Amino acid sequence: MKKVSLLAPGPTPVPPRTLLAMAQPLIHHRSSDFADLFGRVRQGLKNIFKTKNEVLVFCSSGTGAMESAVANLLSPGDKAIAVRGGKFGERWSEILEAYGCQPVNLEVEWGRAVKPEAVAKLLAADPAIKAVYVQALETSTGVEHPIKELAQATKKTGAVLVVDAVSALGAYDIPCDQWGLDVVISGSQKALMLPPGLAFVSIGPKALAAMKQSKCPKYYFSWAKELKNQTENKGAFTSPVPLFVGLLDVFQLIEEMGLDKIYAETALKSRAFKAAVAAWGLKLYSQDNPSVGLTAVEAPAGVNGQDVVGWLKNKYAIFIAGGQAQAKGKIFRVAHMGYISEFDTLQAISAIEMALAGLGYKFEMGAGVAAAQKVFGEA
Ligand SMILES: *Cc1c(COP(=O)(O)O)cnc(C)c1O
Repeated sequence: MKKVSLLAPGPTPVPPRTLLAMAQPLIHHRSSDFADLFGRVRQGLKNIFKTKNEVLVFCSSGTGAMESAVANLLSPGDKAIAVRGGKFGERWSEILEAYGCQPVNLEVEWGRAVKPEAVAKLLAADPAIKAVYVQALETSTGVEHPIKELAQATKKTGAVLVVDAVSALGAYDIPCDQWGLDVVISGSQKALMLPPGLAFVSIGPKALAAMKQSKCPKYYFSWAKELKNQTENKGAFTSPVPLFVGLLDVFQLIEEMGLDKIYAETALKSRAFKAAVAAWGLKLYSQDNPSVGLTAVEAPAGVNGQDVVGWLKNKYAIFIAGGQAQAKGKIFRVAHMGYISEFDTLQAISAIEMALAGLGYKFEMGAGVAAAQKVFGEA
């Protein structure tokens, strides 16, 4: 049996002490102990989102919270901008269509960031647009969209800004209140170092006003119902108790380490990995704003990105990610977010070198490892 290494942008490894914390005997979700835990989790979420807004917890993967941000903000027929710069941006259009809303599709070339002026222009041309849906980090391309600037572009309009930060929150700073973000979404299995199963959504005043007008159907994902319950430290339905226990442990870990230090370490791993990519003579897939949270690498001519992913999985039980949809076969992606160490990063670099060599790419074996060691050594 091989030791499994999770180095894909989700799910990421869970710290052993968090796994142990989650292995405690179950407490009841209607007990005072759980209410106490819920209260501390709510405060921890506000700290990491950097907001005074309520942050709701849902038992679902991140997409559930994305869906809730359509169902609770809009009515059938409403228009909303979907920033489509990758697989997750396209998901916004699909959810909007599923609810009978009209997506105003803003196509962004994969690997590029959206231009805030393009969003401002669409909003100015059509005041009926009710919301703007975007990713902070478009995980399929490794690009960070300019969220702070998008908040400025939407602030004085009637449109609610909804930011999918499932892969971004906890990888780099996204100060919700300072930037004036109406809705921010995240999930448990990326930079927050937990198993999949929890999704989060922060709801600001502009979004609360839109919520009151919304006529889309909703039941499990009703913000109004959950706001009523969660502000009293309970869920409307059965809460996944062990994940709450794990989340509180992660918040304690983050507090012990400090958010700024976590962001600096994530950025360092990203810098080291990107130095390796340059040493291989390869290019980043992200032409604009390559993220610190993960690196998307263009596979060399003659090498299929999926074969690199398969090589690592089959030979070494190391899980990285390939490209999705139009990027399939062209790229491979490696995460730097969450509980991934410098030496996990070096391990990925070393394994990718063996895969590239095995697949016939000509380069100097060890050059990537050396370049990354240099970055780590000088830090
Ligand atoms: C992972 C991810 C999601 C959520 O995907 P789920 O599989 O539903 O957890 C949403 N948006 C982005 C940008 C992601 O990286």
